[in-house]
Amino acid sequence: MPEIVDVVVVGSGIMGVCLAYELARRTLRVALLEAYALGSGTTGSGFAWLNATSKTESSEPYFRLNAEALRRYETLVLEHKAESLGIHSGGTLYWARNSEAQQVATLRRRAERLQVLGYPYTTVNAHEMEILEPSVRFRRVPNEDVEGLYAPADKWVEPLRLIRFLANYARNHNAAIKEYCPIESFHTDMQGRVSMVRAGGVEYATRSVVLAAGLQTSALIRLLTSNPQSLQSVPIKQIPGVLVDTAPQSAEGQMRRVLYPPDSGGLHFRPTASGGLLVGADDTDAIAHGESLDTKRLSDIGKSLLVRVSDWLPQLSLLETVKGMSTYLCMRPVPQDDHPIVGALPGVKGVYVAVTHSGLTLAPLLAHLLAEEIMLKQIPPQLADYRPDRFLQIPHTSK
Ligand SMILES: Cc1cc2nc3c(=O)[nH]c(=O)nc-3n(C[C@H](O)[C@H](O)[C@H](O)COP(=O)(O)OP(=O)(O)OC[C@H]3O[C@@H](n4cnc5c(N)ncnc54)[C@H](O)[C@@H]3O)c2cc1C
Repeated sequence: MPEIVDVVVVGSGIMGVCLAYELARRTLRVALLEAYALGSGTTGSGFAWLNATSKTESSEPYFRLNAEALRRYETLVLEHKAESLGIHSGGTLYWARNSEAQQVATLRRRAERLQVLGYPYTTVNAHEMEILEPSVRFRRVPNEDVEGLYAPADKWVEPLRLIRFLANYARNHNAAIKEYCPIESFHTDMQGRVSMVRAGGVEYATRSVVLAAGLQTSALIRLLTSNPQSLQSVPIKQIPGVLVDTAPQSAEGQMRRVLYPPDSGGLHFRPTASGGLLVGADDTDAIAHGESLDTKRLSDIGKSLLVRVSDWLPQLSLLETVKGMSTYLCMRPVPQDDHPIVGALPGVKGVYVAVTHSGLTLAPLLAHLLAEEIMLKQIPPQLADYRPDRFLQIPHTSK
């Protein structure tokens, strides 16, 4: 006998788990099916910075979606407490050297945009930055003129802790959370509506399926249907990133925030829950995009990132930190136009997709909105720009 559920969610990254949480709390019967362990896809290995401040140059609706997502996190924190969710407030601190005109212009432009968009921030001087992060050396030389921007609403999160908490909540609200349970097949009825999902030898009878499988979403669509429009409506790029995770630092070297120092390669770092550092940079991500990296090359990139960080953290013992570091390559699922793809999949009734970049930031809000849509059969206005069928529209040609 098949198990009867209202919704099958495929994938237990941040997107799938947030959906299971949102659907289960609305008393729908949910089965969350994951091919491996909870959070074993991209979610477990990203930088996990919850922010809107890096999106000031994106479209205004997309910036506002991210800002609203941060407010959604505030709601989660009020309901469940930050410690249980693994959410760390503390904000983001960007700074620039006044001798570098380009850096200062970028910092001020970000501040202007945040002002216009109504996102909380303050400009800070060197002394104020030193109070915020006493272990950081903000000036390279004594009395160097620097200026900073502090955005207190940004946060960072421990992804696996968040996922486990939300999955447990869903389980306690009657959701079936199945790990090591890859999808074997989908079945549709005579009307072209999804009717059954088979996974791990079990059949789930359902009238709604959400594909939240990150990079594997296209493969699942191929398993579901041969309709070319279905596949065409979920174009996903695979964008690599390199991160370095270090062993715990000494107590006096501890920080609290996400830091963006004046580094032309987009260096960024933050503390980890175990007291170490997590480090990435835009220029090393670009290297990973351009060449395939063997273990030695990856480790060299990791060391070079830590050398750059040591410019700003005088307490950092490079020798010790390099010994305890782990450098890894991970892949981001990024929709072709960089914006979320959330909503009904063209071609198969009852199937929805939810794939996005910045998923740690956006998933709680996107899942909340998609759960509303599934319940009420109405598209929330915030999702109107992000429908899968936008990729099917034929561009107007000028005569
Ligand atoms: C280097 C890097 C840095 C990042 N930094 C940030 C950041 O600072 N802030 C931010 O917001 N975002 C960041 N991101 C992006 C963010 O991590 C992703 O957007 C997010 O994790 C995607 O989550 P997801 O649930 O869509 O996908 P995933 O986490 O990949 O989850 C998909 C799940 O589906 C499962 N699955 C696949 N196929 C099947 C199948 N056939 N059957 C069952 N299950 C299946 C997979 O096993 C996987 O667990 C970063 C990403 C990277 C790589």
